[in-house]
Amino acid sequence: MKAMVVQQWGERSRLEERAAPQPGPGEAVLGVRAAGVGLTLLNMRSGAFGGSAPRIMGHELAGDIVALGSGVTHLRVGQRCAVYFYLTCGRCRFCRGGRETLCEAFGGYVGVHRDGGFAEQVCLPAENFLPIPDGLGYEAAAIAADAVNTNWHCMRERARIAAHDTVLLIGAGGGVGIHGVQVARLFGARVIAADVTQEKLALAQQWGADATILVRDGADLVGETLRLTAGRGVAAAVDYVGSGATFQWAIDALATAGRAVIVGVGQGRASVDPRTLLQTERIVTGSRHSTRAEFVETMEIMARGLVKPVVGMRVPFTEVESVFDAITARTLPGRGALTYD
Ligand SMILES: [Zn+2]
Repeated sequence: MKAMVVQQWGERSRLEERAAPQPGPGEAVLGVRAAGVGLTLLNMRSGAFGGSAPRIMGHELAGDIVALGSGVTHLRVGQRCAVYFYLTCGRCRFCRGGRETLCEAFGGYVGVHRDGGFAEQVCLPAENFLPIPDGLGYEAAAIAADAVNTNWHCMRERARIAAHDTVLLIGAGGGVGIHGVQVARLFGARVIAADVTQEKLALAQQWGADATILVRDGADLVGETLRLTAGRGVAAAVDYVGSGATFQWAIDALATAGRAVIVGVGQGRASVDPRTLLQTERIVTGSRHSTRAEFVETMEIMARGLVKPVVGMRVPFTEVESVFDAITARTLPGRGALTYD
């Protein structure tokens, strides 16, 4: 089969011919039909997520089951499935307690710690394949697998968005952020979108943002946020960028009882004032991906048309590096998508 292989972390992936995978006990093989591409993959390819190379990357995936290993009874050949990309143990207290992304025996990520789906087929534990509901296409299901379900978990469980809230989304025009705009709107919130270009802000407005903040050097971003909220601050701030400066903004822009949530994996530190936390009961926290149940819910709301995939670029999977180039150049609006013959 054709596969895009990274020989060493930090290098570009190249097309190779590989043997089609054979499923072991408890595994299944998916014939890949669509994949999503975002910034996380570039961080993975740099080696920042650990794992080993040579590696076939790709974790936002959808397709058809083409082979089953022994003991797999809950899937069938021909079934349309999407991939849950966290390799969890299924037995620890967090897995059993409905917080599996905090797994105590975490096995890593599809496409980093074992081969992913920038290839014609991908072999994974059968528990990592979730059926796609009727009415949802392969591409939408693939993008649901990270760019949308991450927001479903974040908005409902961590930011706890409600209809009367104003929420600040930092990096709202990116691949995850643009779906965050839609999910926050689904909960009824008023959305302030922040990003680094007018094009990304226009895209955020197109998908439902009520107000925008252009991030530029020297701007008083907390002050702008306060002006847009009559001096109160925001009920929640979600940071998709994750630099120390952006998360400091998220914390400092909060209203009383507000929640600052980190979603983007960046670098840097932010500080909190314990007295302010005490007096205002602000919450500073993180949001880690999505459970399988939340992923299923995400595909269901997308099948109903409540959140739509925002795809800014679509190429064959053998040209995935051209999407990485667009992400690096900051010229990709929304998510990248890959097609398979
Ligand atoms: Zn576990």
